[in-house]
Amino acid sequence: MFKVEDLRHDFPILSRKVNGKPLVYFDNAATSQTPQVVIDTIVDYYSNYNANIHRGVHTLSQEATDLYENARVKIQEHFNAEFAHEIILTSGTTHSINLVANGFKDLLKKSDEVIVSALEHHSNIVPWQMLCEQTGAVLKVIPMNQEGELIMSEYENLLSNKTKLVFVNHISNALGTINPIEDIISKAHEVGAAVLIDGAQACPHLIPDVQALDVDFYVASAHKMCGPTGVGMLYGKESWLKKLPPYQGGGEMIAEVTFEKTSYADLPHKFEAGTPNICGGIAFGAAIEYMNSIGFHNIAQYELELLDYATNQLLSIEGVKIYGTSQHKTSLISFNLEGIHPYDIGAILDKLGIAVRTGHHCAQPIMEFYNIPGTIRASFAFYNTKEEIDMFIEGLKKAKMMLS
Ligand SMILES: *Cc1c(COP(=O)(O)O)cnc(C)c1O
Repeated sequence: MFKVEDLRHDFPILSRKVNGKPLVYFDNAATSQTPQVVIDTIVDYYSNYNANIHRGVHTLSQEATDLYENARVKIQEHFNAEFAHEIILTSGTTHSINLVANGFKDLLKKSDEVIVSALEHHSNIVPWQMLCEQTGAVLKVIPMNQEGELIMSEYENLLSNKTKLVFVNHISNALGTINPIEDIISKAHEVGAAVLIDGAQACPHLIPDVQALDVDFYVASAHKMCGPTGVGMLYGKESWLKKLPPYQGGGEMIAEVTFEKTSYADLPHKFEAGTPNICGGIAFGAAIEYMNSIGFHNIAQYELELLDYATNQLLSIEGVKIYGTSQHKTSLISFNLEGIHPYDIGAILDKLGIAVRTGHHCAQPIMEFYNIPGTIRASFAFYNTKEEIDMFIEGLKKAKMMLS
């Protein structure tokens, strides 16, 4: 197990002050902080390698291309994809989902059905609604229970030979629930439907093995797993990526262009039109290496300790209600204090240097289910500490006193 105090030195931002107080950063589910090795990778890239990739004969271009393609291989190995060309580098989860949704425009017909879950982030709802509007396909929703878990028997009832696609997140960003995706995937495959898993919230905590999962598409963002913003990945099975049409047209994604006809480049370039976020891709690779050097087993174990500790402390405050009480959840707590608006709590905590998220967390259907305007969300990473949780609990008690 790592020593958290040592590890915190890897993150320069953790030693800054906010409103005169030491920063307590509990908004990791929105974006994670960046370790020095990733910052160094970015500085090194622009200091020594900056060039456009895949086209130049000159040394810088070749070196930048090698770094970028090496990053793709690191990502491939991390997720255990069979081929590097099954990894498409995108600008993030949202981009990845839109790419796949767009690709299904010609593959769906009226009265086909697609299935989403009640636990989704808006970015795994809206692109599919747009797809359904365009194709006439019907969107079905797996309902959730009070604990914030998907009701699997209802899912089984929704599946039929009309089902063409299922898209569900691996872990809910609003409640922390870990969904039974193995089961979701295998049941979908029994009726011949493809599955996309939104892994944005899972990849900071565990390593998905895309081959073992037999998942058709798996998507994630670098910035939630110690990497920079503006870069992410789409894993797609080779057979699916060959079948889907390109998303954007432009440079880089073509084999040959004439005014009569353009032929597309091979995978993965078919889906990577234009100059990509080269530095971001390389830094994504460095972030994955950094997290693996700490070890996902250690990360998960430590974060669960933080979750238990914080949950017990929170429940000792009168009037606290926690949303998302599944046995299978990650280090994230969504909660409210009776009679107080979440935003007011968030504002007072900020004065104390404590960063939490308040609001609907881009998951309005979940808030509607509980009939609340939003929650306070504290999400912990492996670089957080019990001392920080103590400060957070003190802050909450103070806020409660001021507001009630
Ligand atoms: C953050 C998040 C997204 C969106 O990710 P972007 O990086 O903003 O594209 C989608 N789904 C889940 C579950 C998320 O947590």
